[in-house]
Amino acid sequence: MNRSALMPVEEAIARLLEMAEAQRLQDSEPVLLSEARQRVLANDLLATMDLPPWPNSAMDGYALNVNDWHGEPLTVSQQIFAGRAPEALRPGTCVRIFTGAPVPSGANCVEMQENTQVLDDGRVSFKQPLAMGDNIRPQGQENRAGQVLLLAGKRLGPFELAVAAAQGCTHVHVVRRPRVALLSTGDELVDPGTPLKPGSIYNSNRTLLSHWLSALGCEVIDAGILPDDARQTRLKLEQLQHAADLILTTGGVSAGDADCLGQVLRECGKPLLWKLSIKPGKPLTVGHFGTVPVIGLPGNPTSTLVTFGLLARPYVLRIQGVEDVTPLSFPISVGFAWPKPGSRREYLRARLEAGRAVLYPNQSSGVLLGASWADGLVEIPEGCTLEVGDTARFIPFSELF
Ligand code: AMP
Ligand code: MG
Repeated sequence: MNRSALMPVEEAIARLLEMAEAQRLQDSEPVLLSEARQRVLANDLLATMDLPPWPNSAMDGYALNVNDWHGEPLTVSQQIFAGRAPEALRPGTCVRIFTGAPVPSGANCVEMQENTQVLDDGRVSFKQPLAMGDNIRPQGQENRAGQVLLLAGKRLGPFELAVAAAQGCTHVHVVRRPRVALLSTGDELVDPGTPLKPGSIYNSNRTLLSHWLSALGCEVIDAGILPDDARQTRLKLEQLQHAADLILTTGGVSAGDADCLGQVLRECGKPLLWKLSIKPGKPLTVGHFGTVPVIGLPGNPTSTLVTFGLLARPYVLRIQGVEDVTPLSFPISVGFAWPKPGSRREYLRARLEAGRAVLYPNQSSGVLLGASWADGLVEIPEGCTLEVGDTARFIPFSELF
């Protein structure tokens, strides 16, 4: 294979996103806040009220009207705890107030208790000058009623769900979960819990991907293990095509005789991508079976991880309407040399130590343990060499979930 035939990673991502746009899920559903984590907002979330709904105290202290005060000690006319409804401020007095309690009408300043002194007669003297608005959180400081708080397409994490809770929402409207049929291919694969036969290995990709897909809001349909057999592959894809929004497979997409999945996809029409300029993960194959999209990840555990994280993840998010599918990355100084330029873009499992990226010693695509050791992926572009201290792009794994 000559180098020019390999598709650059950006182009592959762009094609996958274009395909995802055509597959955008239209249905939405209300989901309890407690169950909405990692789901995607279907409609803009509008504020139903000002937040805070009324001015409240940012401190434990005393509220008063500074326009009505000339430095003299004041009588305490009321005590207001958080959660109580206050009476209006009696002119010429102050009120004892606690953090979060509504500021009574007529008061325009709160002095913190540390700057006050309670006199023997119970009056409170203020030790320093006061200004209007001091220590008051004004009504609507965070948002106004009607304001757009979160845009449709936002992935919901703890912060977003807390924003919805602060508005009193019990539910949010989210895009329905994509149904992803997960199919592991390979005669050698056995499920954990079953004794190993000679030549077999345990299926680890299924566990990796089912957790990862769930974290991306998907409903996973476990389609089991498929033997390396073209007829059975066709039958299986036929069975799955109406049950899933996406068929995600591992293994069987290289050019070997037993790589049936790739063969079947190529028979079914022109695959969208095959042979990427990426290491590990070159044989990633994307196509359709009937109308259902199929993403065929290579089976080596690290190839699966890299191609899922960089290529399938954006697809799975975009069909749910997520705009921003690019993981945050940052330049990092490398603690290793890369003297030999590669013909494919390489992603290396690396850890950050003392501000530099250091590599897991074994970068074989068959080695899964390096991913657990590492903090993320260092990207080395095609044709690039590096010396210790040079800069490369780093994608933290935390960004890929
Ligand atoms: P393939 O992409 O089918 O050529 O597989 C490449 C390598 O990955 C082979 O060594 C497979 O045994 C291994 N492999 C494929 N699928 C899995 C899986 N689900 N879990 C663990 N290893 C796998
Ligand atoms: Mg195989």
